[in-house]
Amino acid sequence: MAEGIVFLVGAGPGDPGLMTRRSLDLIASADAILYDRLIPPGALDGARSGADLRFVGKRPGQPAVAQDETNRLLVDLARAGKRVVRLKGGDPFVFGRGGEEAEALADADVRFEIVPGVTAGVAAPAYAGIPVTHRDAASAVAFVTGHEDPDKPESALDWEALARFPGTLVLYMGVRSLPLVTERLAAAGRDRAEAAAVVERGTQPGQRVVTGTLSDIAASAEAATVRPPAVTVIGAVAALRDTIAWFERRPLQGEVVAVTRARAQASGLADRLRDLGAEVVETPAIRIEPRPVDLPRLETYALVCLTSPNAVRLLFDALDGLELDARAFAGAAFAAIGPGTAAELRRHGIRPDVVPERSVAEALVEALKPVPVKGKRVLVARASEARDMLPDALGERGADVDVVPLYDTVAEPLGDEQLEALARATYVTFSSSSTVRFLLESGGRVPQTARVVSIGPITSAAARERGLTVDVEAERHDIDGLVEALTADAAARRVAPA
Ligand code: SAH
Repeated sequence: MAEGIVFLVGAGPGDPGLMTRRSLDLIASADAILYDRLIPPGALDGARSGADLRFVGKRPGQPAVAQDETNRLLVDLARAGKRVVRLKGGDPFVFGRGGEEAEALADADVRFEIVPGVTAGVAAPAYAGIPVTHRDAASAVAFVTGHEDPDKPESALDWEALARFPGTLVLYMGVRSLPLVTERLAAAGRDRAEAAAVVERGTQPGQRVVTGTLSDIAASAEAATVRPPAVTVIGAVAALRDTIAWFERRPLQGEVVAVTRARAQASGLADRLRDLGAEVVETPAIRIEPRPVDLPRLETYALVCLTSPNAVRLLFDALDGLELDARAFAGAAFAAIGPGTAAELRRHGIRPDVVPERSVAEALVEALKPVPVKGKRVLVARASEARDMLPDALGERGADVDVVPLYDTVAEPLGDEQLEALARATYVTFSSSSTVRFLLESGGRVPQTARVVSIGPITSAAARERGLTVDVEAERHDIDGLVEALTADAAARRVAPA
């Protein structure tokens, strides 16, 4: 039997992007994962399908799994030869009881490793635009925690010492204890006018920040009904937020955007939207299922027409399967609908000869008029379900057209979690007609309050046909164009809310 091992791993403060590479690698290879409540959404997505996932944290209003029970579980699993990840919010050794767990493992002679994480006391202020140290404002920082019971915050803390501490205080504490804690600090001599800030759900989409001074921060936090988790920063650095705040200033901050593309293609769009500050809900409604393809006498095609990036990708996969490459088409001209399709072709070493300005079949037919096709072989490689406009028009001009269906587009039923997330969306994006159809067919609903964004006129028509109101239509019919249009709409609404 393999020797068991336990990894005490920090999962960071909540933004999934702040998980370390090591934490993700370990999650992916673990036999068992024991996790807390404050781990980022999706943190366990990369776990193996057979992994034993156990929640050992504290749920509000429910008894926590006792610490020695967790310690015992870690030891038992490791002794059974398992590779165990103990996953905690933030850093495992910063108020995370990781020290106690490591002691228990050491006592039991179980092998273990510590994987530090990004701690909330640094990250939440950073996302609020507050550097915990600053050359002019703070040369020291103290991380402070107290008893969650507001009647006993004095148990572990030396208020006089904290009041004298020459630097920033970062409090990892329940907001309920804030009135008492700030009062104690002031009574012990800390400047009542010192800047202070409370950061609620730091680094997460719902992050909120309340600012003030030591004397009024507790009342302001209460007035704003700040809820855990929250950290409080006390120190001159808190005032730097006025200048440095960035999170809330991002163009799509506060927007919840549903991306309905097939998962394989969604990530580019999702990343772009996240970079702009949106919370992205991936409700992949469609999946691309490649079909087996037959490509006879490739070298005799005079013209190859491609109508989607997927078609390009799958055509070249098929070529690769035949141990061929772009040279198989050496004599052919290439036509592409859409800049994304053209870009994908270039990625495969082919510069398309014809790319119509508008990304619709009608425009391609028009653009192909000067290209002689009479009596020539033409390949139209595309989705199995597509309009026949293009092959029909080429056929009428005397071309010998082969339509090769490269893939089927199939509906993906949405799970409860996705449906709930979708219900919160402020924007729902559609990047093709099929995404409209499949979102609705897979049980998804566009919330009343959400704005519908479409990539172009065909997609808009499909949306309207299904009873949706299209609020925004991209001018350029590609992903960049869609993101641009959505961002412009959000900006306009911020200036003059509709
Ligand atoms: N090990 C964790 C801290 C665990 S103690 C770490 O290193 O971050 C739990 C406390 O951490 C909470 O009560 C709160 O004060 C703070 N905290 C955790 N996540 C937070 C977040 N996303 N935003 C603000 N505070 C957070």
